Amino acid sequence: MYRWISCRNIVERIHGTDKRFGGKYIVDPYQKCDLCCVYCDAAEDIIYIKHNAAEILINEIERIKRGTVILGSATDPYQKIEKREGLAREVLKVLTEKGFPVHILTKSSLVERDIDIIKSGDVRVTISFSTMDENISRIIEPEAPAPERRLKTVEKLSEEGIKVGVAVFPLIPYISDVNIERDVERFRDAGASYLIYEYLELKGYVREKFFGKMKEFAPDIYEKLKELYQDSYKPKGYKVDDKIIKACKKVGLRLGYG
Ligand code: SF4
Repeated sequence: MYRWISCRNIVERIHGTDKRFGGKYIVDPYQKCDLCCVYCDAAEDIIYIKHNAAEILINEIERIKRGTVILGSATDPYQKIEKREGLAREVLKVLTEKGFPVHILTKSSLVERDIDIIKSGDVRVTISFSTMDENISRIIEPEAPAPERRLKTVEKLSEEGIKVGVAVFPLIPYISDVNIERDVERFRDAGASYLIYEYLELKGYVREKFFGKMKEFAPDIYEKLKELYQDSYKPKGYKVDDKIIKACKKVGLRLGYG
């Protein structure tokens, strides 16, 4: 279900600079997300559409110093409703016309629609994946484009000369890292120039939702994850950093936003 709301502010200032994505500001044209990933607290039944986002942004941007804007931090700017509403496109247009660097974070191939605007400014795009396994993706990211389709988006953006990278985000133990060497190579071959990752955190109702899905559709992985997250919201003692560092180094993919 969608609801239209009027926002009074649209730019959120980050204290300092965001270390993961390198931004000073965040703009989210939607509140909550219709891509329904089971590990995410933005996946809700009611999505709020900030219909006046671009209008508010035009005024607000005059009062802030130039700095990178992260488009899509708490929610995906290219979620399904964007196809109809076009708010991310409007916002992106304002930001590029005003000369603000932009970092788009998305799981959606819909970002390809805005290549014309992306190319007109200082814009980079990070496409996120938690797995390249289509079957698992359908369970945990039911409404997001299939991983192979996302990979094609990386390829398309790269061919257009756009700075593009990937985020293994969240990195789900026993899922995201099982074929990480091969996946990293495929990301590089598609044209990604960097990789960002962050381990899955499970809190509150998201924890129940995620475990419920895993128990139903992947009981073997569920048992292992349950143990790992038994008394922590982080995967206690599970570290694959060396594996990722090695894999990236091997294929020449830069680790981290830079
Ligand atoms: S696409 Fe991103 S914001 Fe949307 S539900 Fe999935 S993880 Fe959450």
